[in-house]
Amino acid sequence: MEAIKLHDLSKSYGKKYAVNHLDMAVPEGAIYGFIGQNGAGKSTTQKLICGLTPSDSGEMRLYGEASDNAAIRSRVGMLIESAGVYQSLTAQENMKLYGLAIGMDHLQEEMNRVLKLVGLSETGKKKVKQFSLGMKQRLGIAIALLGNPRLLILDEPINGLDPQGIIEFREIILKLNHELGMTIMISSHILGELSKIATHYGIIKDGQMVKEMTKEDLESTCQNYICVRMEKAKMAADCLKKEFGLQQLKLAGEEELHILDNVCSTKEINHFLFQNGYTAGEIYMHRQDLEEYFLGLMGGGANAQLV
Ligand code: ATP
Repeated sequence: MEAIKLHDLSKSYGKKYAVNHLDMAVPEGAIYGFIGQNGAGKSTTQKLICGLTPSDSGEMRLYGEASDNAAIRSRVGMLIESAGVYQSLTAQENMKLYGLAIGMDHLQEEMNRVLKLVGLSETGKKKVKQFSLGMKQRLGIAIALLGNPRLLILDEPINGLDPQGIIEFREIILKLNHELGMTIMISSHILGELSKIATHYGIIKDGQMVKEMTKEDLESTCQNYICVRMEKAKMAADCLKKEFGLQQLKLAGEEELHILDNVCSTKEINHFLFQNGYTAGEIYMHRQDLEEYFLGLMGGGANAQLV
């Protein structure tokens, strides 16, 4: 079943579409990496899903139910923009305020459970203003986890975190997903980190879905190639094509070749170039990643042409 299913969903501000006839499918149990350039419509989409802003038109279903179904809505946890926490209160005091506001039963038990989940059980009387950014972000997640959501929506949760904070965040997300089966949607510009945890991706541009894919789709789409950096790359390309019968040889600028054919090794290329009087500055196997794939989709990145 799909945790989130959007069809033809739109939201405009004035004359401009922030979300423009958007389709999206987030399978239950996914960690869905939601990617797009600044202003692409990520936050607006997440606000629509969380019911924080109304849509103009289109359809939205959560776990197969209409998104205004109160029972389903109560199982959506969110951390959109920075967590609105009181700096002069402790983690427990902040959580208590939220818990009381939503009329939660067994609040103390629930607070203990989620604080443990995010590694904030031991903060005692420490006030939030003394927390690191990573701790504040984890408190935001703890608040979002009150009520044991099935679906967690996180908007740019890694922004500004130091490497240790990023590792802690990753561990929490994987634990929530693997151990509690929670579906998690994360928007982020930090694609290297996102690709360590995401099982699915949605790429949005100008409010429209450009591509949805699984982690496996991405891996098989990302093309590896041999990159050769050298002078006289065009001349060398002609020789290499003849020698190895290359069909997919690209020139990226004047001094870089990309060999996409899987017919020869870096060692063979190096040897051939050397034998023919060329000197390669660098030859290596390049592995395309999410960032490069994303830039390619957005029309940026290395602009290599077939030769
Ligand atoms: P970023 O990565 O910079 O956070 P985003 O992908 O989350 O961007 P949104 O914040 O959803 O993008 O914004 C999409 C478009 O809608 C932008 O052009 C933005 O200026 C506009 N927009 C968003 N919220 C409002 C609002 N409350 N009033 C007017 N315009 C808005």
